[in-house]
Amino acid sequence: LPIDIVTTKRDKRALVLVNPASGAGKAYRMIMEHVIGIWAEAEFNHQLLITEYAGHARDFVQSLDLNEWSGIVVASGDGLLYEVINGLLSRNDWQDTLKLPIGHLPCGSGNAFITSIVRHSKQRIADSMSQFLIQSAVLIATHQVLPFDMAVIDTCDGQRVFSLLSVEWAVIADVDCDNKERNADFGFLSFGLGGTRFTIEAIKRILRPRVYNGYIDYLPYEVTDDTVQSVQITPNTTTAQLHHHLLPLNEPIPIDSSTSKWRRIDGPFAYVLVTSKSALSKDTVSSPQSSLADGYLTLQFIRTRDSSRINLAKMFIGLDDGTHFDYDFVEWMPVRAFRIVPSETEGNLMVDGEKVAYGPLQGEVLPSIARCMGK
Ligand code: ADP
Ligand code: MG
Repeated sequence: LPIDIVTTKRDKRALVLVNPASGAGKAYRMIMEHVIGIWAEAEFNHQLLITEYAGHARDFVQSLDLNEWSGIVVASGDGLLYEVINGLLSRNDWQDTLKLPIGHLPCGSGNAFITSIVRHSKQRIADSMSQFLIQSAVLIATHQVLPFDMAVIDTCDGQRVFSLLSVEWAVIADVDCDNKERNADFGFLSFGLGGTRFTIEAIKRILRPRVYNGYIDYLPYEVTDDTVQSVQITPNTTTAQLHHHLLPLNEPIPIDSSTSKWRRIDGPFAYVLVTSKSALSKDTVSSPQSSLADGYLTLQFIRTRDSSRINLAKMFIGLDDGTHFDYDFVEWMPVRAFRIVPSETEGNLMVDGEKVAYGPLQGEVLPSIARCMGK
């Protein structure tokens, strides 16, 4: 996909999908109060659409006339972005849909996507939610457009989904899943507790650590490796063919180092995270070195043998600003593709904060495949 746009079209309107249920029901009021005025002044052409049910945005973008809009802005959390992206990619003309720039106004519990965009522009993330919303509205109104990486993910129930943010397994998946069930604000690590940003769930999980058996196969990312080009997409490529390195999930990956570049890490694990962006929420820097379009996924993990309670606590505190990467017990590496194979049949696996079927799961980076509003 050629990067044939560097700005959004000023003569067309951006479609703004507002989730009235997100941000404790305050999203619409927050936008009226903090965004509309800025956009009027900046002459940012737009039209609001209030979603009426979960799945409405997905349905709506499935029949969207692509020529009519300059882009799509999601005024919600990461959940609605995931829905919109997967809706667009389920269309037959999925390649054209990816040319529409995606913007994000932080109105949800988890707002990792816009946080990663603002971090990419080297700005400090505003402390308050209203300031953060204004910061995002201003960024969108610059009309600038940037490419970003995504990941294609296969789950054990035969689904293929597209991820903007993360795959979580082990303690971090459990914490995120618990938070979601509690409907905790800022989805992940925001429960203010004496200055740190632990959630009650994180503390519980640190005090009663679980062992996650299994293994992870991965294809290392090497900058100098020019034999592995990024995904070649022809007009006939379908999303089912949108991968270079993945095998069917039921076929073992050859890991013999004389014939294959794939490697295996044997568990058990305490913590496993794969990300394509730097942030996991507004207040979390999960992959400090990551940019929007670096062409790789960041795999990070803690082995059970290194997972004392103190180490898990240090890791969760370090996630605040990315300093968890300073610890030797947090291992990390850039990868092109990976496969997580849990031994147990019960547990949590999360893609972009959404729970998926538990079992073998694999993914591959899709370098610079989509566009976002940011600079
Ligand atoms: P987060 O969980 O990070 O806050 P969102 O707030 O974006 O993420 O999304 C939460 C969910 O709300 C999404 O899965 C979306 O489908 C759903 N949703 C969207 N519109 C509505 C609506 N009008 N009523 C109820 N749920 C909705
Ligand atoms: Mg979410």
